[in-house]
Amino acid sequence: MGYNNIVRYDAQFFLHRRHMKNINKRISLTLKELRRERGWSLDKTAEKTGVSKAMLGQIEREESSPTIATLWKIASGFDTSFSSFIEDIHSKFNKPIHRGGKTKQLHPTDEKIRVMPLFPFDEQLNFEVFVIELLPTCEHLSPPHQSGVIEHVIVTEGKMEVLVNGAWQSLNKGEGFRFDANQPHGYRNLSSKIAIVHDIIHYTKTT
Ligand code: MN
Repeated sequence: MGYNNIVRYDAQFFLHRRHMKNINKRISLTLKELRRERGWSLDKTAEKTGVSKAMLGQIEREESSPTIATLWKIASGFDTSFSSFIEDIHSKFNKPIHRGGKTKQLHPTDEKIRVMPLFPFDEQLNFEVFVIELLPTCEHLSPPHQSGVIEHVIVTEGKMEVLVNGAWQSLNKGEGFRFDANQPHGYRNLSSKIAIVHDIIHYTKTT
C-alpha cells in the first residue's frame, strides 16, 4: 500500500449522541477483544492497566465513557496504540482517507481538550497522528505511556505548554517539541484563545 493518501482535516467535528455511542461501542469491543486475545480476566486487566475492575466493566457494558487519561492507561497496559480504541485500524474502509467533517472526537466530558485521530495507528510504521484542541485554561495531565512511546507535539494554532520532567515548556505556533512519553506529562493552554496541536506518537516497540 502506498502512503500518498490525502487527508483533509476538518475541524467541523460534531458531537451528537449517536456519534459518541459509536465511539463507546468501539472502545468496548476493542477492550473485550484485547482481553480475549490475551486471556486476561477483569482482575488481571485492572492490575495491568491501573484502571479499576468496576470501571473496566462499565466501559465494556458501554455504561461509561472513559476519559482520555483512562483510555491511555488501558492502551499502555495492553501495550497497544491509543487510536486502536477509536478507529478500526484494520478496516478496508480506512484506506483512501478522507475524513472531512467526520473526524471523531473523544470524550465529551473532558470539556477542555478534544483529541481527534488524523492518521490512526499505522501498523507498518508504528505511529499515529492526532489533532488536539486545547481550549483556554485547559490543563490536561497524562499518565506515563508504555515504554518506547515518543510524542512529537507541533503547534499549528495559538500557543500552549508541554509538561515534561516536571517543567512546563512554552511552544508557539509553528514550534515543535519531542519527548519520551513514558513518564507523567501534560499539556496546557494558559492563553485566552484555542490552541491546536498535532501530536505524532511513535511506538518504537512494536505492539
Ligand atoms: Mn501522551
